[in-house]
Amino acid sequence: MSNKQRYRIAVLGGDGIGPEVTVSAVEILKLVQLQLDCVEFDFEEHSVGVGEYLASGQALPDSAFDACRTCDAVLLGAMGLPNVRYPDGKEIAPQLDLRERLELYGGIRPIRLYHEHDTPLKGYGVGDIDFVIVRESTEGLFSGRGATLEADATRATNELVVTYEGAARVSRLAFQLARKRRGKVTLVDKANVLSSMVFFRRVFDEVAQEFPDCVAEHCYVDAAALYLVRDPQRFDVLVTENMFGDILSDLAAGLVGGMGMAPSGDIGDQAAVFQPSHGSAPDIAGKGVANPIAMILSAAMMLDWFEHPDTMRAADAIRQAVENVLRSPDQRTPDMGGKLSTQQMTSLIGQQLHQSL
Ligand code: ATP
Repeated sequence: MSNKQRYRIAVLGGDGIGPEVTVSAVEILKLVQLQLDCVEFDFEEHSVGVGEYLASGQALPDSAFDACRTCDAVLLGAMGLPNVRYPDGKEIAPQLDLRERLELYGGIRPIRLYHEHDTPLKGYGVGDIDFVIVRESTEGLFSGRGATLEADATRATNELVVTYEGAARVSRLAFQLARKRRGKVTLVDKANVLSSMVFFRRVFDEVAQEFPDCVAEHCYVDAAALYLVRDPQRFDVLVTENMFGDILSDLAAGLVGGMGMAPSGDIGDQAAVFQPSHGSAPDIAGKGVANPIAMILSAAMMLDWFEHPDTMRAADAIRQAVENVLRSPDQRTPDMGGKLSTQQMTSLIGQQLHQSL
């Protein structure tokens, strides 16, 4: 009998460019597997998203949800297409259901500049960019997404929910992450205006007491948007409410090359889903030009999350391989000003991986 550590990975390609970048990530993981003696991956593919909704009436069939619940981790491409909607007009976004049903409360979005060539701040003396946004992903202003709008409405409201448990667990996750980094956590809030944010700050400050080795600070969300552009080095780990995190993570991705460079992991106590921060990008779907790096870096986050010495080594090797490829300014997909196809970029990363692992 094999004494390898086996990991069951649910693979959900989804819609638009989702399946294209997912193929790339699986290709890289298979290369990793070839070079690791002690680890084996079992990939279980499931159909989800708009395509599945049109075929079966369910965007996230029970069999796919069960796989997400029972596998060691989930790799997800992207779900949703703007022109296919539920009868009530809402976009099909089963990734949001997945976050809520699996209680994936911590959306971890690492932002790292791999090459100075790729930041719009080039020439402004900005230097290294390396921080992580932790987005609360089960409540906040997204709690209002179930609300409906009457045709003759003259007023519309959405509730912003912050619970003690929700704020505490995501703050704790941010501090745990900071311990492995530079030890600083910034709560991004709007405590000068909203009582829900005063409450979040109170809970954050309480959790901070558990981490006396870390620095805890607060920053209003409007100021955070400014500092992210003017002085991103001041941040290590930022933790914030769902909607603020949604917006700031796109801004942050823009600092390091765009959505194709922004990986993410949605972490819960029982499950974890790794997917790029970008959506299904229907404008470029099917053309073979999607940047696979965000998805490949998301797979690296999954390997870190397994906390096996071999998979963690492989995660570092993937990041190193990406860095090596991006050293040559002509090695880019079109979103970053280059000419490489998805497959060409994936192959280059695979070749570099061979050397760095
Ligand atoms: P969502 O609402 O699900 O976040 P969105 O439609 O707002 O999705 P994205 O799908 O994330 O936005 O992408 C916005 C644009 O960025 C796309 O239309 C596409 O041009 C570009 N883009 C996103 N991801 C990639 C990628 N991996 N490679 C190349 N371009 C990308």
